[in-house]
Amino acid sequence: MIYNNLAVNNKIWDRLSSAWKNDKLPHAVLFYGASGSGKEAHAIELSALVNCIAPSENGACGTCPSCQKIKTFQHSNISLVIPYPRRKTIDKHDPAIKAINDKDITMLREKMEEMGQNPYSKIELDNANTILINSIRDLRKEIYMSSSEGGWKVVLIFNAEKLCLPQPESANALLKILEEPPSRTIFILVTSNINSMIETIISRSQKMYFPPISSDIIKQKMIEEGIDNEKASVMSQVANGDIRLAYKLLKSSGEIFKDIDLIFDSVFNPSSAIWQKMINRISNLKRKSQNEINYFFRLAIYLFRDLMLISDSVDHTKMVFSNMSEKLKGMEEKYQNANWANCITALEDTLGYIKANGYVPLMVTTMLGDLREILKTSKK
Ligand SMILES: [Zn+2]
Repeated sequence: MIYNNLAVNNKIWDRLSSAWKNDKLPHAVLFYGASGSGKEAHAIELSALVNCIAPSENGACGTCPSCQKIKTFQHSNISLVIPYPRRKTIDKHDPAIKAINDKDITMLREKMEEMGQNPYSKIELDNANTILINSIRDLRKEIYMSSSEGGWKVVLIFNAEKLCLPQPESANALLKILEEPPSRTIFILVTSNINSMIETIISRSQKMYFPPISSDIIKQKMIEEGIDNEKASVMSQVANGDIRLAYKLLKSSGEIFKDIDLIFDSVFNPSSAIWQKMINRISNLKRKSQNEINYFFRLAIYLFRDLMLISDSVDHTKMVFSNMSEKLKGMEEKYQNANWANCITALEDTLGYIKANGYVPLMVTTMLGDLREILKTSKK
């Protein structure tokens, strides 16, 4: 295999590798499912397998010249199509790369390099809202040319829903290719948002669903990375099936525990400085991505869910933050009348407002004020 730390979806991998062994690979497959479930990494593993010089029972060897080139995205059989931001106006006949700037190109190189090492990284550019029709025209030129390397040509289309957004013109151009696919060529379309794709593309591909990764597997992976059991537990719960997020948290594993303290203090030891810190943190995450905002609120919601578990005296092994159980028990005793479910509702509402572009300082201040009110006045 190309990656030694990939959580392999055996069902899908067995299906693909046996199709390959029996010379029955479909022309097009569509990997869809939750974000952070390993879809891109499986696409790269398949690209490697069909070009590997010495494949084993499990997959590509990972070391032959072909596998080496796949890892660095330098294999001439592999074409990568991703959404581009439209930085410059380009002509119909221009290559797609003319639409982006030097900074994008550098970033793209860095992200490809990282993807060769880390199965859970992602190759994407900021503000890339569409797959340009020029990219599909480029592709048409590439795939009908004969290959110098033998093996199979592989077309990787990441964030494939962007073929159809905002208009399906690139999807329609791709359909023409899929109607007359060149031989020994496989198209691997990858999306976390199949609902945005047009039916004609979906029906041309063999669909394969990637479920979210179980928290047990994520926990195991975190432990293999050298963190202790309790921290791994927290991280796997918070990642909620998104293993990419778990690895991201791992990279800055101090951050997640700082965030937990920040949430705790904003609610239970409030001061204007702490509230300002909370506003800054949420504003920063919002600038980064939707997933990161979700992550932060998920932390807060789990914290209150744990308080609810303590107050209902249910099975405490279900707690996410069992490492904080003493601290949380103290707060539960202090606010015995608190309606923790209402706190969770306040958090969920605020997340919704922020996603709908609500003004972060106002939304966060209102939420923290509401939480104080709930803690003071509510009855069970
Ligand atoms: Zn190989």
